[in-house]
Amino acid sequence: MDFPTFSASTFDGAEFGDGTRCVHGGHPEPATGMPLLGGPVFAAPYHLGGQEQGADFYGRAGNPTWRALETAVGELDGGQCVLLPSGMAAVHTLLRTVLRSGDGLVIPSDGYYATRDLVHDQLADLALDVREVPTPGPWSDELFDGVRLVLLETPSNPGLDVCDIAELARRAHAAGALLAVDNTTATPLGQRPLELGADIALASDTKALSGHSDVLMGHVSVRDEQLAERLRRARTLSGAIPGPFETWLVHRSMGTLDLRLRRQAENAAALVDALRDHPAVTGLRWTGDPHDRDHELASRQMRRFGGVLHFELADAAAVEDFVRRSELVVAATSFGGLHSTVDRRAQFGDPVSGGFVRFSCGCEDPADLVADVLRALDTVTSV
Ligand SMILES: *Cc1c(COP(=O)(O)O)cnc(C)c1O
Repeated sequence: MDFPTFSASTFDGAEFGDGTRCVHGGHPEPATGMPLLGGPVFAAPYHLGGQEQGADFYGRAGNPTWRALETAVGELDGGQCVLLPSGMAAVHTLLRTVLRSGDGLVIPSDGYYATRDLVHDQLADLALDVREVPTPGPWSDELFDGVRLVLLETPSNPGLDVCDIAELARRAHAAGALLAVDNTTATPLGQRPLELGADIALASDTKALSGHSDVLMGHVSVRDEQLAERLRRARTLSGAIPGPFETWLVHRSMGTLDLRLRRQAENAAALVDALRDHPAVTGLRWTGDPHDRDHELASRQMRRFGGVLHFELADAAAVEDFVRRSELVVAATSFGGLHSTVDRRAQFGDPVSGGFVRFSCGCEDPADLVADVLRALDTVTSV
């Protein structure tokens, strides 16, 4: 019962804009009397009989609701998308599929902490030769020697450092390695790693792509059909599959990704302007800030900037005080949602100071958000 899905990537040879692609991607072609939108398909078994090649037969192996979202996300990434039930399921499925015992693996030392924990405690049986590198480098030639996979995270979470995807892809390929990019912070609208030469783009769609703080999801997109098939097989056999309802929720939410990212970036720009010279704030970074040290490189490889920034207050107590006094900003981990949130990353073990705040701009009105943040910070400064 596959819906013929609409390809929203091109029109008369020209590429549709981001908003059009988000609204139309993966949804059914018009058909009289059929629902405008597909809706979730709930099926454990499917009817068998006269089995056509490729027809669905069991819900662990295939589901039309997955394929609808995979079409939409794959078109944005420029590859074949394989959906997984969380960002970590995407990272895990990729590493288990690509790596063999004793392989060399490069991962960021400053990226999402759970990826490092996964490699060191869940993949210990593989006896990998793990090389941890900070996103800004230095990227010495020896790092690439005998490596099977280089995993980048750019912009990195939470540091917002940027590395050159195209250059590192060239060097990884010259050494016979695959290059993967954790694209969570950027989203497929912000950056297309596959176009820059990466073999693999993966993300936690729990963050801005779904963007409503109510569902977890992840995906891996690849250019190579055989690798896509191996990833789908790993999903089927491991049994770690997305639920159809969650998948449908993400697809529904993705329709507004372009609008939400625009507002979040607008809020980030307004906050950066308001906080740049604020006496309580140091170490302010946002990739979209023309003053940011990585802005030039980011502008070359990114298509737009999102709403995640970071800064430091004096200490943990100052952050807690700030959150208590703010009316709009709440403390929560994760980012990319409709609501502005702050996350004091030291509490999760990131190697940052106690006053380090990752600030995820939501979709509130810029004037309201700036006024609220300044009000809450002014009292912090005066204590
Ligand atoms: C959140 C996050 C993940 C993990 O995603 P989940 O959906 O929470 O499993 C992976 N990478 C990055 C960069 C993240 O921010």
